[in-house]
Amino acid sequence: MVLAQLGGSISRALQQMSNATIIDEKVLNDCLNEITRALLQSDVQFKLVRDMQTNIKKIVNLDDLAAGHNKRKIIQQVKAFSIPIYWPIVGVCEAVFNELCTILDPGKPAFTPKKGKPSVVMFVGLQGSGKTTTCTKYAYYHQKKGYKPALVCADTFRAGAFDQLKQNATKAKIPFYGSYTESDPVRIAVEGVERFKKENCDLIIVDTSGRHKQEAALFEEMRQVSEATKPDLVLFVMDSSIGQAAFDQAQAFKQSVPVGAVIVTKMDGHAKGGGALSAVAATKSPVIFIGTGEHMDEFEIFDVKPFVSRLLG
Ligand code: GDP
Repeated sequence: MVLAQLGGSISRALQQMSNATIIDEKVLNDCLNEITRALLQSDVQFKLVRDMQTNIKKIVNLDDLAAGHNKRKIIQQVKAFSIPIYWPIVGVCEAVFNELCTILDPGKPAFTPKKGKPSVVMFVGLQGSGKTTTCTKYAYYHQKKGYKPALVCADTFRAGAFDQLKQNATKAKIPFYGSYTESDPVRIAVEGVERFKKENCDLIIVDTSGRHKQEAALFEEMRQVSEATKPDLVLFVMDSSIGQAAFDQAQAFKQSVPVGAVIVTKMDGHAKGGGALSAVAATKSPVIFIGTGEHMDEFEIFDVKPFVSRLLG
């Protein structure tokens, strides 16, 4: 039941609202404002929150609410709930929950690699987003499922990027390719992909450069690597703490390369990850995994309901 999935602070606020004798437009607005506050604190984009509020008001029958309801009668109607909450408020909660789930569902599934058939997956994201770590997590996850993954380090921008990938790959016993001397990321990416196709790897993962901020040179490089390697999937990696900047960042990548899925990292931290809604809206692609720690196996399939509960918490 949706109430059980709502975050703590929202549940408490709703319970308090249930002390009102009449459910009217003011109570509905108070309820929505409380939810709005929680969502903005969770870094959900202001525009998405505002659109959601408008939609909810369309769904909820304001005339019914404005007419007021008999408290006792309604409490009896919802005896099934463990806490006394007015039925209209339950309806509002369900509508909010469903709206948020809908925002996170772009309507088309992400590409999934097939065993025995070579697929190329290109990772993009800003420096520090957790891209290199996530490449290995993604490879390791699929290796455990019986795939034959390989890692290519086409990040020639960050000193130490190749060593980091090499170390992670060695630990997971995953073949890797990169160079200490070659400075052309396109060349490395193409050579790596060709080599691993010949070696019958079925999941070739290309790690790319990042920058601390969005820069034209980065997007041009991403465009070139994508054009040269023709990835089956471009994965956008975002840090859950990125906040309101998520929409612009995701959109900038989408304008350069065909982003087809999103991974949200550092979900073990304090951030609620509301930027993920922006990333889905900007790229029209689903979130497929979340990173929940620095270790290789701290990686989970994205599950929309617990994620939305956390946003509302
Ligand atoms: P890149 O510059 O995008 O390639 O980022 P890195 O993969 O080097 O990661 C940057 C930092 O974030 C490193 O210290 C990682 O260990 C850390 N990191 C990556 N993913 C996660 C995660 O899911 N949780 C936590 N706590 N740290 C992470």
